[in-house]
Amino acid sequence: QSQELSQARIDYHVALQALQEHGTRMVCTGKMHTDRICRFDYLCYSTEAEEFVFFHSNSSIMLPNLGSRRFQPALLDLSSVEDHNTQYFNFLELPVAALKFMPKPVFVPDVTLILNRFNPDNLMHVFHDDLLPAFFTMKQYSDLDDEARLVFMEGWGEGPHFDLYRLLSSKQPLLKEQLRNFGKLMCFTKSYIGLSKMTTWYQYGFVQPQGPKANILVSGNEIRHFAKALMEKMNITRVEEAERDGGSSEQERERDKKDEYIAVFSRSTTRLILNEAELIMALAQEFQMRVVTVSLEEQSFPSIIQVISAASMLVSMHGAQLITSMFLPRGATVLELFPFAVNPEQYTPYKTLASLPGMDLHYISWRNSMEEKTVTHPDRPWEQGGIAHLEKEEQQRIMVSTDVPRHLCCRNPEWLFRIYQDTLVDIPSFLKVLRDGMKNKPNLKKTKIANTVHPGRVREAHCQTSVQTPHEARLTVSWQIPWNLKYLKVREVKYEVWIQEHGENTYMPYILPQQNYTFSENIKPFTTYLVWVRCIFNKNLLGPFADVLTCRT
Ligand code: UDP
Repeated sequence: QSQELSQARIDYHVALQALQEHGTRMVCTGKMHTDRICRFDYLCYSTEAEEFVFFHSNSSIMLPNLGSRRFQPALLDLSSVEDHNTQYFNFLELPVAALKFMPKPVFVPDVTLILNRFNPDNLMHVFHDDLLPAFFTMKQYSDLDDEARLVFMEGWGEGPHFDLYRLLSSKQPLLKEQLRNFGKLMCFTKSYIGLSKMTTWYQYGFVQPQGPKANILVSGNEIRHFAKALMEKMNITRVEEAERDGGSSEQERERDKKDEYIAVFSRSTTRLILNEAELIMALAQEFQMRVVTVSLEEQSFPSIIQVISAASMLVSMHGAQLITSMFLPRGATVLELFPFAVNPEQYTPYKTLASLPGMDLHYISWRNSMEEKTVTHPDRPWEQGGIAHLEKEEQQRIMVSTDVPRHLCCRNPEWLFRIYQDTLVDIPSFLKVLRDGMKNKPNLKKTKIANTVHPGRVREAHCQTSVQTPHEARLTVSWQIPWNLKYLKVREVKYEVWIQEHGENTYMPYILPQQNYTFSENIKPFTTYLVWVRCIFNKNLLGPFADVLTCRT
């Protein structure tokens, strides 16, 4: 472990002088604590007080300068989980003069990204809350490069997936407890604090029942970019999709087909599939494919990803291991199994991932609806779904309920009881769901053609009007194609025109294939109309409206 911060790389006296003269400097992005990331020069951390320290000098800057609003509730979220009260970041303030009375600072020369991991024991949380946000935060700030240092302040130990965090940069990440080893006062020469929330797609149910985030800002492209970068770091090579379907001969494609296989992700301690062998046989027979099992207990993470990255289908019980579906090739299917009384529609982190635009994964869920095929564990500890600690009446109610009602995170005993059941998968109902699900699988070739280039504004939009009779008028609108269209091959180009009578709050929408049209129905003489025109590619790629036209008949 390289715990040396190579003090040689910075001139200690220069650094100390800079700190004394300039104090700490902070500039942030984001108007709210929930979307803020701050960059600091000379932010310090007292390992004794376990507090970050901002040193004020005459030339300190602190933007935003919030005054005491900085504590309402915090400067920023240290984890990517929004507004969680255990994840707030703030610093204490001191005048630089106080340095004279403090332990000698130790300077950290590396550009540092300081954050909280949210739940480093759980693979889904590792990816969704930490790895993806850290990866894209590092993309956002170019000095957070491969040499950057990550510091995890949540206070946990390395956890079972520390190797994954190591892939983010070439330097060993530091844990809060290790900071003490360096000294009593550490000063980060350059640091960023906070994580981008741009890539997260799921909220865990702290204030409302869990579900997809309201405003998802990430697409499959970014997730796949991240997955590819991580695979490269793990030295996993997968057959490039381009190689696969670009220019390959009929025979090659036949051979590829023969190589296709299904991966079953197996859990070996909780939430078991009790008849895994039977399930595997059924899958093999149904698809005439090999079936390979993977499990976190038996294999290294890279070897699991190696398998998943070329699988045609991933089958697994609901659970954190399903986050690995981001490594599936485009066009693959995710089949998620749910225990008895658990509604798949209410627990959708993996469905949401698979359904992100451009992720190009087909998602199917199956749920055990036969109570005789579930195995409950009422006597286990409460975290694993035990209910023995509850009142008899409450236990009884839970035992007879066939659907977990909506609930908040994270300790609802009925939810834990049901989600930690083991399941004997009923093969006929499983195959029915699978067959029905596969019928709706879109053809990847077709969806690929639908690219994601949006139209520009239509140009030179004009209107001409004429009055025919006291009751009839005409309105002719014409425009030119968007500038980017002449460089594109677009399957279908249409135009949308909205006509609103001035002062009315409704409008008439029209979809037109051509670049001009004369409207006569519902057009009145001596009336002012507002007209909006936009271009649409392939039915659903909407362009922006051109400047509104004002047309008087
Ligand atoms: N886990 C596992 N095998 C098991 C049970 C759990 O590998 O039999 C892993 C799981 O993938 C996750 C962690 O242990 O990374 C915690 O599992 P838990 O059941 O608490 O969470 P969940 O999978 O429901 O998110």
